[in-house]
Amino acid sequence: MIDFKLYDGTRNSVYGETLLEAIQDIAIVSNNQIQCEPRPGAVDIDGFNLVKLIEQYTLRAARGQILIDHALEIIDSIPEIRKGGETKIFLFEEDTYSNTCSNWCFGGFVPHNGKKYVLISMARINDKIHLKDVFDHELAHSCGVPRPKRRNTYYHLGGHCSNDLCVMRQNDDLVEARKYAYARHNARAPPFCRQCTTNQRFS
Ligand SMILES: [Zn+2]
Ligand SMILES: [Zn+2]
Repeated sequence: MIDFKLYDGTRNSVYGETLLEAIQDIAIVSNNQIQCEPRPGAVDIDGFNLVKLIEQYTLRAARGQILIDHALEIIDSIPEIRKGGETKIFLFEEDTYSNTCSNWCFGGFVPHNGKKYVLISMARINDKIHLKDVFDHELAHSCGVPRPKRRNTYYHLGGHCSNDLCVMRQNDDLVEARKYAYARHNARAPPFCRQCTTNQRFS
């Protein structure tokens, strides 16, 4: 069983519904049952309000962006959120930047103080096909994909997979990332290559 806890700060249920599709991908590939509370796409006022509060506190007004490192500090300081071993997923509407990516970033999987967090901004991902790839990619990272020292991997912002049309390749350019998502989609490529699938089977 793999557990996720969702904090959805978006007003549009399409983000949660797309997340649910990605969770189903991971369930099939890992041959594991997955539980996500609350169900993605459902109304969760408390979670929504919490994310809005975090956005307010971490928004840098002059840039109109939230500093994701600051958001992570706040999230990790709330005992109610920290408790439990499940991966905590946060969806933001505000655009984000970080101390390491100074212009902007999607966010992603960030292990922190022994906890697993996935923080993702929807601000620049206005495409469902691209978004599902982003979710598949970050959720698989949270499950330890790709495994360290595996063949066909490279290190760029963490370990990534170099196999053709695998969703675990890293694209930090927005246009390239969307192009790659469409190349995968048009080729009807499965989300994960054989090696990344195996990495999830034996987790
Ligand atoms: Zn990655
Ligand atoms: Zn792969």
